[in-house]
Formats: sequence, C-alpha cells, structure tokens
Amino acid sequence: MIILKAENIEKTYGKRELKVEALKPSNLEIEQGLFYAIIGRSGSGKSTLLHILGGLDKPTGGKVYLEGKSIFDMSSHDIAILRRRRIGFVFQAFNLLSEHTVEENILMPMHLDGREPDQKHFEQIINVLGIKDKLAYFPDELSGGERQRVAIARAMLPKPAIVLADEPTGNLDPKTGDEVLALMKDSAHKFNQTFILVTHDMEIARMADKIIKIDNGNIISITDSL
Ligand code: ADP
Ligand code: MG
Repeated sequence: MIILKAENIEKTYGKRELKVEALKPSNLEIEQGLFYAIIGRSGSGKSTLLHILGGLDKPTGGKVYLEGKSIFDMSSHDIAILRRRRIGFVFQAFNLLSEHTVEENILMPMHLDGREPDQKHFEQIINVLGIKDKLAYFPDELSGGERQRVAIARAMLPKPAIVLADEPTGNLDPKTGDEVLALMKDSAHKFNQTFILVTHDMEIARMADKIIKIDNGNIISITDSL
C-alpha cells in the first residue's frame, strides 16, 4: 500500500539572483511498512524533502498525499493534528522544549492528543535509548547524543504510521546508533510503520529496504540496495 505520495513537489527559496531550487519537481511513492534511507551530499535537498513529506514545510508547487489526503489542501490546524496522530519527526536540531523535563518532552505529543502511552512500550523505548535515568532532567542538562535519543523516543512513543528522521544517529556512538536502528526496524515490523531516514551513514543505507538518492535537488533514483 502507498502511504505517502508526492506529486510534482518542488521548493524554491529566495527570489531572482538569490533563488535556490532546493527541490526540483519530483514524484515519490512511499510504501507502508518499509524502511527508506535518503542519501545525498550536503545541500542536496534531503531535509527539504523530508520536511515537505511530513507536512512541516509547504512546497512551492505540487501535492503530498498522506493516506490519500492532500495535506497542503488542509487547514494548518488540521495538518497539525494529522501530523501529531500519524507522523513522528526527529529533527536535526532535536526541537526539544527547554522548559520541560525529558519525560514531559517524550510524552508531549501523546498528551496533546489526550492519549496515554502504553507503559510497556514506554519502558522498552527508554531502556533501549538509555535515557531511563534522565527522565527528570531538562534538555539543557543533556549531551547532544542524549538529546537526540530523547527526540527519537518522543517521535516513536505514539507508534506513528510514519517516522521521519533527519540524521537520527548523527550524534550517537556506533554501538548506540546500531541499537537505535534495531529498535526502529523492530518497531517498523511490529507496528507496520514506515521509516524515512536522512543519513550520511552508508551502514544505515545498506540496511534500508529502499534507498532514495538525491543530488542537487533532484531525486535521481529509488533502489532496493546501494
Ligand atoms: P540537505 O539537507 O541535503 O543538506 P537542505 O534541504 O537543507 O539540504 O537544503 C537544500 C538547499 O536549499 C541548500 O542549498 C540550502 O542552502 C537551501 N536552503 C534550505 N533551507 C533554506 C532556507 N530556509 N532559506 C534559503 N535557502 C535554504
Ligand atoms: Mg539536512
């Protein structure tokens, strides 16, 4: 089943001589339950593509359909709700709320939706991510790698249909990075989730089901292996 479909999406920043075509008109179909890696050089448009797919950034042209619904034709209020219910996002800059503890940050998307997490699932996530003893801390009191793990926990706890992650293992040591990936793969199979990860790490790309290559704003290929 196609869970996410992009039709002719493009993104241009700036005007005239300052114009940057971050993403040239592109089509993409994402299948439910698969693990995708987006690879490409720095500045090639990976983050732009991920943000558009997640409804966080409006394309200059084109449409994105999530489960058949054209998200940018919805009101921003409805997009926000859809995002909260169906999509987990791990940002490159983590975007944790500094006034809230680690635990509050992790629970925030579910609480905003009036839901309570499955306690066993919560325990499993914080154990694998090694943040059990950091729950009462504030983001400023954590290292970059720890903040990254909190952002991953927050995205994964609601068991979203789609998890979009921008370099989610970039600040982790190799062993933790491997454990996080194993957690994601396990979660993908258990809950039939789709993962789309932007990565520089060829190890991650190698273990993905599909690899999306992007170069200079063009999606140049979608393949089953590197
Ligand atoms: P990547 O994630 O592959 O490194 P990005 O998607 O962040 O690439 O950026 C693609 C291009 O768009 C780059 O040339 C970048 O400088 C430009 N760009 C990204 N965001 C903005 C912005 N907010 N304003 C202007 N240019 C931007
Ligand atoms: Mg980027």
